[in-house]
Amino acid sequence: MLQWKYQNQEADIVIVGAGAAGGVLAKELAEANFTVVVIEAGPTRDPQHDFASDELSMQQLAWNDTRIVAGNNPLTMGHNNSGRGVGGGTVHFTGVFLRFHDTDFRMKSLHGVGEDWPISYEDLEPFYAKVEKDIAVSGPKYFPWGNFNGPYPYPERDPLSPNTYMFMDGCKTLGIVASVAPLAILSAPFEGRPPCINRGFCNQGCMPNAKFSTLIQHIPKAILAGAVVIDDATVTEVMSNATGKVTGVRFTHNGIEYIQRAKIVILSAYAVETPRLLLHSATPQHPNGLANSSGWVGKAIMPHSSHDVYAKFKEEIRLYKGTPVLATTQDFYETNIHRGFISGYSLHAHGARPLGIAGELASRANIWGKQLRDTMLDYNHYGRVTMVGNVMPEYCNDVTLSDEKDHLGVPRAKITFSYGENDLRLIDHAVEMMSNILEAAGGKVEYVVPDTAHLMGGCRMGSNPSKSVVNSYCQSHDVNNLFICDASVFVTSTGANPTATVMAIAERTAEYIKNHASDCL
Ligand SMILES: Cc1cc2nc3c(=O)[nH]c(=O)nc-3n(C[C@H](O)[C@H](O)[C@H](O)COP(=O)(O)OP(=O)(O)OC[C@H]3O[C@@H](n4cnc5c(N)ncnc54)[C@H](O)[C@@H]3O)c2cc1C
Ligand code: SF4
Repeated sequence: MLQWKYQNQEADIVIVGAGAAGGVLAKELAEANFTVVVIEAGPTRDPQHDFASDELSMQQLAWNDTRIVAGNNPLTMGHNNSGRGVGGGTVHFTGVFLRFHDTDFRMKSLHGVGEDWPISYEDLEPFYAKVEKDIAVSGPKYFPWGNFNGPYPYPERDPLSPNTYMFMDGCKTLGIVASVAPLAILSAPFEGRPPCINRGFCNQGCMPNAKFSTLIQHIPKAILAGAVVIDDATVTEVMSNATGKVTGVRFTHNGIEYIQRAKIVILSAYAVETPRLLLHSATPQHPNGLANSSGWVGKAIMPHSSHDVYAKFKEEIRLYKGTPVLATTQDFYETNIHRGFISGYSLHAHGARPLGIAGELASRANIWGKQLRDTMLDYNHYGRVTMVGNVMPEYCNDVTLSDEKDHLGVPRAKITFSYGENDLRLIDHAVEMMSNILEAAGGKVEYVVPDTAHLMGGCRMGSNPSKSVVNSYCQSHDVNNLFICDASVFVTSTGANPTATVMAIAERTAEYIKNHASDCL
């Protein structure tokens, strides 16, 4: 029988999900002396025992439960976008740690598309700085784009990989500015953790602990401050009472159902599971799902477009060497209406491991048999560039409940996604630029592989309760003791990797709860 400290008591705060946002919230709120219980569906792993330099076995770091996908461009769900276990997606993320630009928060005002965020870049600025300092982000002395130009707390990574030098050469030839990427990966020792040893298994979980994750950073500090973390426990429902307030969560561990009562519930279960839980927690007071009087729960989910372009080089590149992403350009990040689309993208020199490439070529580019074998025999000669492209928020791209149920009796999530016109024009432009860079570096482009990465949206923040789910502090418009704080609150997707922003938003929400908890109890 599961025993936990607040088993028969009402905790101050229960947090669902111990990922990027949940980890930050648990640490900050436990250190502020709230009684905090974190409930996490997956296990707590020990990097030195549970991580292996093995692409196949480390697929288990992902949320691999069946999800139904639909739409014109159905998303591949699993290792490429969702994590499961203490640390969430940060356990196998690549560590690219970029801030959004001020223009990202004002897409509607500037271009009449998408929606404005209820916060500005300036609102998040101190929280970006805090997160970067807390985890010792390494990066260049001068970062050429956006509102923050460095320096980062730790020096930029060195040495770089051959794929990175190839990318930088190609960019230089074309007059494109490139920079070493800011990374949540150590370039020097920090808090007893060693610097990166460049073996490139970051997407398999980092065994030496050089890469930040909330598993090794925020959750241990939260526990030290008194938080209780219940792992291998899946929340199936957020409970609410006749007045409409939330009262706690129902969860299952080892086939037995438990309840954790709490004064405040925070959902940090990511862009699919958070909307799914809210929709599944409907009551007569909340007939369309909890926090869903607007009808926006589950709506406007956004992946990043993430096509990969491969070129073959005479010399060896060896894509497995080093941290996957060590260089980037944001020269095409801001809107330039002459290009025929709004917003933009980042391009990363992006290493890859052999099984990943073989699987990608076979499943997404239809390369099979002799051609696949010959390509893999020449693996060492391939270089790769990847895009992180803005995808516009559309109401019709959504998470809903399907008719099929999982083993706990909860309807499976159905995720519907189709690219819009703007997204497709942006992808065409990025693919052309990636190809130009690879060719300028001396390669011959052979494969363009469509892909997506990251997920955002589904419970977006906003000032207007009829068009959004939470306010700018991630507090539900409908239920004031319910907070939703993870990648689901994003209003636009932007052309940058999202986790720095997920964590900055979580820091801001934690500060708000610290100062205003009594208002919502
Ligand atoms: C392969 C890969 C590479 C990536 N690379 C980068 C990168 O380089 N840079 C970047 O910025 N971002 C990257 N990301 C994205 C990053 O991982 C996410 O943006 C981030 O983890 C989202 O944080 P979150 O708190 O919203 O959710 P998560 O970190 O996913 O945490 C959600 C947690 O909730 C748990 N959970 C879900 N449902 C329940 C439930 N019902 N009960 C209990 N627990 C539940 C999950 O198990 C999970 O641990 C990458 C992701 C992947 C998968
Ligand atoms: S390359 Fe560096 S960050 Fe990546 S797994 Fe190896 S030590 Fe960790």
